[in-house]
Amino acid sequence: MDQIKIGAFIAGKRKERGLTQMQLAEKLGITDRAVSKWETGKSLPDASLMLELCSILKITVNDLLCGEVVTMENYNEKTEKNLLEMVKQKEEADKRLLKMEVVIGVIASAFLLSMLLVGAYLQTQSMPVWITVLLIAVGFVQFIVAVVAALRIEQIAGYYECKECGNRYTPTLAAINFSMHMGRTRYMKCPECGKRSWQKKVLSKNI
Ligand SMILES: [Zn+2]
Repeated sequence: MDQIKIGAFIAGKRKERGLTQMQLAEKLGITDRAVSKWETGKSLPDASLMLELCSILKITVNDLLCGEVVTMENYNEKTEKNLLEMVKQKEEADKRLLKMEVVIGVIASAFLLSMLLVGAYLQTQSMPVWITVLLIAVGFVQFIVAVVAALRIEQIAGYYECKECGNRYTPTLAAINFSMHMGRTRYMKCPECGKRSWQKKVLSKNI
């Protein structure tokens, strides 16, 4: 998406409606600095504001994302381009999430291991037992928090592909929590065909 073009489009439509940046900002309940940032192409309006912004400027969300009024002739093509762009952005975000999951796993494991080692070492130094118990407890608690975060990422980043019918879907958190897995491949029941199989993690929804 071309932020500069979108920004100029917002500015043009705002002026057409005879609004200052301040007046538009007030209608949306935001600062005029935010409006200025959109108009100079430094940022895009939040998704949560888009509908209201479009209704004030009397344009469609599709117009907004294209940075121009979309005519009937090029409507489908433009809409598809915007959808593809959004899908691509989700894929990129999912990729980053999955990388982050690995980092979380490594750090949490290293931290747990060091708590165990330090705890064991303190016992050889005849320190009170409760210090060791505390260290091990802290190690396990942070590890469990990390596992919960990792499982949530496993659920929402990308999709799982059923080996039997090829269906790609987002599983429930419960299905993720209670399934065997090897790396990112999980043994789950497909919601489409109902068969159980080892299901591969894929980034895109389309085959
Ligand atoms: Zn299936």
